[in-house]
Amino acid sequence: MMEKKYLAWRAYRYRAEEVEKAAESLKDFLTRCKTEREAVRELEERFRNRGFRPIGECDHLSPGDGVFMNWRGRAFAAFRAGVRPVEKGFLLIGAHADSPRIDIKCKPLYEDGNLLMADAHYYGGIKKYQWTNIPLAIHGEIYTKDGKCRYVSLGEKGDEPVFLIPDLAPHLDSEIAERKADKTIEGENLDAIFGHKPDFIHDESKDAGTRKNILKATIVSWMKSRWGIEERELVSAELSLVPAGDARDAGLDCGLVASYGIDDRVCVWAAAEALLTASAGARRGMMFIASDREETGSHGATGSQGRWLEHFVLELLALAGCDNPALGVRRAYAASEALSADVTEAYNPLYKDSFDPRQMPFSGNGIALMRYSGSRGKYGTNEARGEFVARVTSALAGKNIPWQVGSLGKVDGGGGGTISMDLAALGMDALDFGPPVLSLHSPWEMVSKADLLSTLEAYGAFYAS
Ligand code: MN
Ligand code: MN
Repeated sequence: MMEKKYLAWRAYRYRAEEVEKAAESLKDFLTRCKTEREAVRELEERFRNRGFRPIGECDHLSPGDGVFMNWRGRAFAAFRAGVRPVEKGFLLIGAHADSPRIDIKCKPLYEDGNLLMADAHYYGGIKKYQWTNIPLAIHGEIYTKDGKCRYVSLGEKGDEPVFLIPDLAPHLDSEIAERKADKTIEGENLDAIFGHKPDFIHDESKDAGTRKNILKATIVSWMKSRWGIEERELVSAELSLVPAGDARDAGLDCGLVASYGIDDRVCVWAAAEALLTASAGARRGMMFIASDREETGSHGATGSQGRWLEHFVLELLALAGCDNPALGVRRAYAASEALSADVTEAYNPLYKDSFDPRQMPFSGNGIALMRYSGSRGKYGTNEARGEFVARVTSALAGKNIPWQVGSLGKVDGGGGGTISMDLAALGMDALDFGPPVLSLHSPWEMVSKADLLSTLEAYGAFYAS
């Protein structure tokens, strides 16, 4: 088969500045937002600045008006009203703002071997060995019993400490060759080093040198003075370890962006940008959602299986004065079309055999369309209807927007799910559409800069369709 090469780079050969501008904008977003909560805060600010208002503060909705809903700090929805009423359907682009990471447990601190360790539990599908021995930063928030919230970000700046999960030297680890990859590092061995320097000066007890847990007491008092919390208040802290450092360029020619959390904040960024820059006079309403918990199955109040999207649509119907919202919301879904904006794994020349040579997406060939994901005979996926696939591809036609077909590896070679099936379950047409990413779910993922512009333009074309 003739391999089509560099489709997106060729399409954008005279638009290098726009490619670079998109990459800078993405890097800025990824560097600012390393958790879903940070993304939701950033999104709220961006939508407010462009005139979108909190839906609870509105009493009517005219064509062109923008509203948003910050759902419990972890998920976000925004809508720009079209000329047609909400009940007649809208165009939705849905991404997820959570990414795989290492979460700190509820009662994390323990002292062992002159080290203060933080007990942790990984979040999402990771190859555990990739997360040891790399600099991590703490991101999250702490809720104290007096009702206060404190945001934490530590380890990003050059003068701040980083946190590492120590691994065993090869000299002591001869058994490693016999272990399966997912047992190379056990889940319980993903604890990070939080401290090592006990404070003997301020320790009141006489037997300080031999006292149990003096290091832990030192770190607990550090937390009290810096974060204003008692140890037991860590139970109400949402603290995560994420790869430290800014998003940056990769390759001698700076052709790729390398960063933590490209899955799926690249699509959050692109879909939000597409809505913020969409023209206000559209026929159909345009909706954007940033969902949470996708990496662990989309459960809970803020996942795409939750009721928050329905809540948002019902609020929109209420603003429009809909007198039968129970039917109105069903009609709205039935007439709506959705892109599940999520990434897929790009072809990797080091692992040729893991890809289906006729269906795989290449970095630099543009945004990838996946009619279904799932695994083992299409379990765990909706499959977009052919007529909707034709509608989406025709929305791109004639605009010189490069796109390609993608798939998640070989049949029976793996697979995975997206929020597409939750959107489809509401009654909408839904199709997975997002850029191919190298080293998916690793601490540093990579995406082609040319594919960023392709993704932005494809989402823009969908909203304009
Ligand atoms: Mn994803
Ligand atoms: Mn993922």
